[in-house]
Amino acid sequence: MSKNTRRAFLLGTGAVIGGWATRRYYTDPVPIGTNYVTPTADPLILNDASELSPTRVAKHITVSDKFDAQSTAALRAELKDAEANRRPVIASAARHSMGGQSIAQGGTTYTMAHDWVELDTTNLTYRTGAGTRWSTIIRVLDAAGFSPAVMQSNNDFGVAATYSVNAHGWPVPFGPMGSTVVSIQIMLADGQLVTCSREENADIFLSAMGGYGLIGIITELEVRMVPNARLEPTFTHLDPMNFGPEFVRMIKGTPNVQMAYGRMDISKDRFLEDAMMITYRPTSDQSDLPPAPGSGWLSKRARDIFRAQLGSDIAKHGRWWFESSLGPRIGGGDTTRNALLNEPVVTLDDRDPTRTDILHEYFISPDNFGAFIAACRQIIPSSYQELLNITLRYVMPDNESWLGYAPVDRIAAVMLFSQEKSLRAEEDARRMTQDLIDAAIRLGGTYYLPYRLHARPDQFAAGYAGLRPFAAKKRAMDPKLLFRNALWDSYIARA
Ligand SMILES: Cc1cc2nc3c(=O)[nH]c(=O)nc-3n(C[C@H](O)[C@H](O)[C@H](O)COP(=O)(O)OP(=O)(O)OC[C@H]3O[C@@H](n4cnc5c(N)ncnc54)[C@H](O)[C@@H]3O)c2cc1C
Repeated sequence: MSKNTRRAFLLGTGAVIGGWATRRYYTDPVPIGTNYVTPTADPLILNDASELSPTRVAKHITVSDKFDAQSTAALRAELKDAEANRRPVIASAARHSMGGQSIAQGGTTYTMAHDWVELDTTNLTYRTGAGTRWSTIIRVLDAAGFSPAVMQSNNDFGVAATYSVNAHGWPVPFGPMGSTVVSIQIMLADGQLVTCSREENADIFLSAMGGYGLIGIITELEVRMVPNARLEPTFTHLDPMNFGPEFVRMIKGTPNVQMAYGRMDISKDRFLEDAMMITYRPTSDQSDLPPAPGSGWLSKRARDIFRAQLGSDIAKHGRWWFESSLGPRIGGGDTTRNALLNEPVVTLDDRDPTRTDILHEYFISPDNFGAFIAACRQIIPSSYQELLNITLRYVMPDNESWLGYAPVDRIAAVMLFSQEKSLRAEEDARRMTQDLIDAAIRLGGTYYLPYRLHARPDQFAAGYAGLRPFAAKKRAMDPKLLFRNALWDSYIARA
């Protein structure tokens, strides 16, 4: 296996093939009105991955060392001072959430930047600092023959942040990442540092799981791991209208599937008319697993191809042809679980100061997924947003977290849009998002909370049955509302 990841290979090689046509027919979107955000070097103006959330904070504190008695006391003193001065506080890690969920306006924002992992190979768990990134966790686990049980599709995120949004990934069969966490240590609004698990302080453990930092500041976690494995892919064409039930049937009905995702054709003239499912199973030879590579030259080439899709249906056709036809014929070699997980976000970075990438995600039950796709065919093309990718995942039910998004089996539709950085684009994105959320809710589904805060408050309430109990729990645990972010201010405070 080369230094280039299998994902990059599948995503990118088609670009090379489509490159000439892409360059020739590429049409630059008109950047008129791109004045939404003025860049600033002010260290007290923090932003997030949307590049659309500039927010002034009073203090920005980075914590990299493992918490000890002294740094724990300093954290406690900061909470006390913030409370006395009515400053909100929030913890963050990579700030890849996209609507101010990781920033305390006018308050203290912590960036957790830990970098330690301790393995317990007997119990198949590891302890890690709250801010440790998945790239570090994969490196340490990979060297010992293990792999994260559940994480996102990229390795840049903090592990406590992953717990705090209760992220899901494409390893199967799993629910969200919180289901793989054994215990956490968290500092509450009153300065107590408590250990929480399903057996001890379970109410705190489960409200902080997917609690967006509003319950307290997590300092470290104990998380389950699984053996790393050599895997090989199987590619299957599916009718988009039957994708949901077929995807679940193949995951549940086929032994040993360890990773699975789907993709759809997003070209404008064949919008969502074709779908692929890719599943990974262990090979018979599990000896001498190679170390997980990072991104190689092909990943960088993949970026060019991915970006060439902007404004070009020819490039979109080229990419789909590769992903659905050529890729399955030539790209079916083996890889490892860790190699598939070890991909940084920067691989696909747009490097365009006038545009930004915005993610959306909708969770729909498998049986209703076809109806959701039918709604997307109406809603998305009637917006000005440029859809560059849809990835589909399976999420097992989660009945633990208070703000759960998967009370039953769900298909997660992850959409990546390239958006102009302008007010007109924001308003257009808001309208489109609300229409997509209405469609999801009509079908008994919901949407994901770490992205732009474009939902109407009634949509949050309709999509999250746990909203009011969560808000009540937060008020009981943090009566002076010390821990606050834009998600609280925009929605939960009203519940
Ligand atoms: C390119 C990209 C790919 C993505 N892929 C996936 C995916 O595959 N699956 C998925 O589910 N999501 C995915 N996401 C969403 C992602 O999981 C969230 O945005 C996640 O929050 C990112 O982690 P972060 O370190 O950037 O968190 P941040 O944005 O820094 O924080 C997120 C939340 O966690 C809280 N938090 C952070 N640290 C702590 C702490 N120590 N204690 C208490 N609260 C804390 C913050 O207050 C905030 O509310 C993706 C996002 C991007 C941009």
